[in-house]
Amino acid sequence: MYWHEANPSRWKQEQAIASDLLDDFEAGIDGDRTAFIGGTLGVYSAHGHLYESATLHIEYPKTFPARNRPPSVYLKSHRDRWKNTGNSHIETDWRLCLFVPGESGIDFADSTSLKALFAVIHTFLFKQRIYQKRLAKTVLSGEVAQWPGEDRSHGERGIREAIQSMSGIGRNAPCPCGSGLKYKKCHMRKFERR
Ligand SMILES: [Zn+2]
Repeated sequence: MYWHEANPSRWKQEQAIASDLLDDFEAGIDGDRTAFIGGTLGVYSAHGHLYESATLHIEYPKTFPARNRPPSVYLKSHRDRWKNTGNSHIETDWRLCLFVPGESGIDFADSTSLKALFAVIHTFLFKQRIYQKRLAKTVLSGEVAQWPGEDRSHGERGIREAIQSMSGIGRNAPCPCGSGLKYKKCHMRKFERR
């Protein structure tokens, strides 16, 4: 059974939170029965000035929120203006690389976790806007654009950095990479294989 069928009240709650925060809110179950939410999030300055309107598509894992696996967030807008290259933390399919799941600090079992996720997305898009400006400049100068603020390396290297900085993970704990597998069946094996 899919999570949105097993827990319809939680699915309703997710939609209620998203419809408050997103313009042009939509939600549904797609062809392979994945629950999704879509809409446009305003990215504001500290003074309330609107910098960007980012259209997002959020897909839930089929067993959400088991093993604290987060939803996947895709950027639908900006594909003509922003680049998903370099250290942009945007994957080739425009999935946002928001955090190493084990380091998000968000407990997705909490029914208000989507609010926390939107706060992370807002900060991410704010930084992304700065990064994309830097990236545009480096086209002329040939320098490497730097991500604003602290970050992990992009992709697999970032997951390894995060795991190495943790003070020890139980073999049966969810893998910090967010795969939904136990650590012993996922990155613990990958480390052993090195
Ligand atoms: Zn893993």
